Amino acid sequence: MTRNIAVIKGDGIGPEIVNEAMKVLDSAAQKFGHTFNYTQLLMGGCSIDAYGEPLTDETIAACKAADAVLMGSIGGNTTTSPWYKLPAHLRPEAGLLKLRKSLGLFANLRPCVLYPELRAACTLREDISEKGFDMLIMRELTGGLYFGERRTEEIDGVTTAIDTLKYDENEIRRIAVKAFEVAMKRNKKVTSVDKANVLDTSRLWRKIVEEVAKDYPEVTLEHALVDSTAMQIVRNPSQFDVMVTENMFGDILSDEAAMVTGSLGMLPSASLNETSFGLYEPSGGSAPDIAGKNIANPIAAILSGAMLLRYSFDMQAEADAVENAVKQVLAEGYRTGDIMSEGCKQVSCSEMGSLIAERV
Ligand code: NAD
Repeated sequence: MTRNIAVIKGDGIGPEIVNEAMKVLDSAAQKFGHTFNYTQLLMGGCSIDAYGEPLTDETIAACKAADAVLMGSIGGNTTTSPWYKLPAHLRPEAGLLKLRKSLGLFANLRPCVLYPELRAACTLREDISEKGFDMLIMRELTGGLYFGERRTEEIDGVTTAIDTLKYDENEIRRIAVKAFEVAMKRNKKVTSVDKANVLDTSRLWRKIVEEVAKDYPEVTLEHALVDSTAMQIVRNPSQFDVMVTENMFGDILSDEAAMVTGSLGMLPSASLNETSFGLYEPSGGSAPDIAGKNIANPIAAILSGAMLLRYSFDMQAEADAVENAVKQVLAEGYRTGDIMSEGCKQVSCSEMGSLIAERV
């Protein structure tokens, strides 16, 4: 198969880690007889330097024309970089928000996996971490409290701030469908997280999720309250497969789940729209403190490439091959500096990419 991938390497460690992800994708393409064509685009600080804005209309159009987008990370040191002296709408992050919106990416997927070899980095007690976990948090990305009407005003002489939490049934239905579709490719369990004992939006969320569940009889559905879920993530994370939730709950729970794995450089993410199109990027930022030194961990970017194969190209065997190559390299004891532990072999960013590419 021939597929077109828009590539936004971005700033900081972005170019270093994306180069390794492309190396691994090419290795998968070669093994399985595919051709991946890459179109390199600028976004973030590098686009500000080249074009005076963080995201051009040409870049948006080129992303839309591709089958998927592979991204590194954008932004610089927020205290010292001149990019952060610009008005908010011209800063690097404004480009990312605009791109997500322009591409209609409403579902954010963050897998949180505890690899047996990295158990020492897990912040949980050993009797919990030894069971391992492999959950995927699906967060609604374009609605809810972060996009509702907001204002600050004087009411009866008291300064009062108001944010609005609003979801309509269509917004809930489309993300619920995505959650069940993804669960069908995993362990066939969906945990829908809400606050239905208090919020109207959560009661509607529950109702619509139950309606959608009827179309997926093979998938087990459970509902959970967000406060109890926050506790369960640290008490017994192995119980979860796909967790689906609204924007703010997902923002908080996905960081909590990421933290318990203990290694930011290992966590990929995907943002999807209604079609198979998606944007794939590591969960971490541009790490300006280590940029240009060839020491960043490329595994999150490489695993983002595996998600691209799985969710946008429906290449399950190819995605498995990449994920298994990552597991093998870890089992063989290779580590970048951020996940280094005693007795392991420390390698550079590019060496890690090559080791994984060779094992695909
Ligand atoms: P960060 O994630 O870039 O870095 C936090 C810490 O984690 C740093 O010590 C860094 O060295 C380390 N780290 C991150 N990724 C790593 C990797 N792959 N390998 C090894 N170590 C890694 O967060 P920050 O320092 O708060 O932000 C830096 C810049 O990144 C800011 O401009 C921020 O706005 C931007 N940012 C961008 C995105 C994105 O592009 N989606 C996401 C988050 C932050």
